[in-house]
Amino acid sequence: MKRKFVFATNNAHKLKEVKDIVKNKIELLSLNDINCHTDIPETADTLEGNALIKAKFVYDNYSMDCFGDDTGLEVEALNGEPGVYSARYARDGHDSEANIKKLLSNLEGIENRKAQFRTIFTLIIDGKDHYFEGIIKGEIVKVRKGTGGFGYDSIFVPKGYSQTFAEMSSELKNKISHRAIATQKLCKFLQSI
Ligand code: IMP
Repeated sequence: MKRKFVFATNNAHKLKEVKDIVKNKIELLSLNDINCHTDIPETADTLEGNALIKAKFVYDNYSMDCFGDDTGLEVEALNGEPGVYSARYARDGHDSEANIKKLLSNLEGIENRKAQFRTIFTLIIDGKDHYFEGIIKGEIVKVRKGTGGFGYDSIFVPKGYSQTFAEMSSELKNKISHRAIATQKLCKFLQSI
């Protein structure tokens, strides 16, 4: 029987990306699946802290093994911004259009476009927490390209590719992305225990 885990998110894009990767290995439940409709506040000032808050909320209230995640887009010329504040860079409320607009405007006239997506998964299993990191390096383009994906996908081109994440097939993004790397680490850990 497959082991069950809650992924402490209701972001349909993230859920699908991770489900596609773990499909035969673990059974994944979302917050909706466990009837949790709380918008868990991300009040930490690190990705690790926010990922732990989400996982701990589920562990403490539902007594289920679970993992939480947090992702940041870290831009070199902006000293790592927006980073942990990526979701609310322009304003509260996960407004990707406004976030992209603000980022492109802050990078106007700047030649160094280097950036990376960094994801942290915090897994709580049998009461202990474990951390998994996924990083993909790349560049921020000057004009949005592509309609797939979500968040900052239309302005990020991973190193070694010429398309933004939003122009790629979901299969390709899922092979190389920050979340894919973190998910593979998490799966490897689960297979080792
Ligand atoms: P969170 O992990 O949901 O808090 O995401 C932080 C911010 O990064 C949000 O604005 C997301 O839309 C964005 N984000 C997270 N993962 C990705 C991704 O894979 N591609 C593009 N943007 C992402």
